Amino acid sequence: MATKLPAAMARMYKNVFVCKDCKTKARTDSRKVSEGKARCRKCGSRAFRPISKK
Ligand SMILES: [Zn+2]
Repeated sequence: MATKLPAAMARMYKNVFVCKDCKTKARTDSRKVSEGKARCRKCGSRAFRPISKK
């Protein structure tokens, strides 16, 4: 039962990033990521990428 509403999807994946090291999803501010202030809760890495990007 996947939602296909684009608006809902955008809301879900907005401000959600994936740790490049351990692939953990983290909800954080995109501004924080670009400033290097977002940190992975699991491994402590600061390398994130947007979740929507493949
Ligand atoms: Zn991590």
